[in-house]
Amino acid sequence: MAFTLPALPYAHDALEPHIDKQTMEIHHGKHHQAYVDNLNKAIAGTPNEGKSLEDLVAKAGSISPAVRNNGGGHWNHSFFWEILGPNAGGKPSGKLADAINSTFGSFEAFQEKFNAAGTTRFGSGWAWLIVKDDKLEVSSTPNQDNPLMDVAEVKGTPILGVDVWEHAYYLKYQNKRPDYLKAIWNAIDWKKVAARYEKAQAVVAH
Ligand code: MN
Repeated sequence: MAFTLPALPYAHDALEPHIDKQTMEIHHGKHHQAYVDNLNKAIAGTPNEGKSLEDLVAKAGSISPAVRNNGGGHWNHSFFWEILGPNAGGKPSGKLADAINSTFGSFEAFQEKFNAAGTTRFGSGWAWLIVKDDKLEVSSTPNQDNPLMDVAEVKGTPILGVDVWEHAYYLKYQNKRPDYLKAIWNAIDWKKVAARYEKAQAVVAH
């Protein structure tokens, strides 16, 4: 079974005014679609055809640059759409809020660290909040790499990720990546992030 583009879990204009409709249409319908298509091309007729996306991502560095870039692109964007949402933003609550406060000092200190990771990632890449050895950590990756990959400098389970490629923000924010990183907090669905945090902890506990 070839990989397919997952439907966006909300309308293209649902994240307005933080992320504009046209950016979402192109980002999901063109960029993400291209990662899916190129991943399918890269594995067609190879022993990797039929493997799960998680398997391909975990071994991305040893398979091929095309699988690393496009498998990462497919995984990262599928994840990204899920942790964003309309009527979102604000702050996390419960266990995740406690963990953020005890790890980073405060929610605001965490945001600052996360935005610094996204702003200082040279060129294209992603900023992440991961669970590593049962602890929270902020990291970033180049291109379409992610913390699940064998090639990641900092490995862990992503619970929040933000795309800092220019295609994620250029139409509305032009070259002002920090403005985009400031705005995107209004579109983060903390319930989804908290669910991923609980799941990552359950894996560790097991
Ligand atoms: Mn992207």
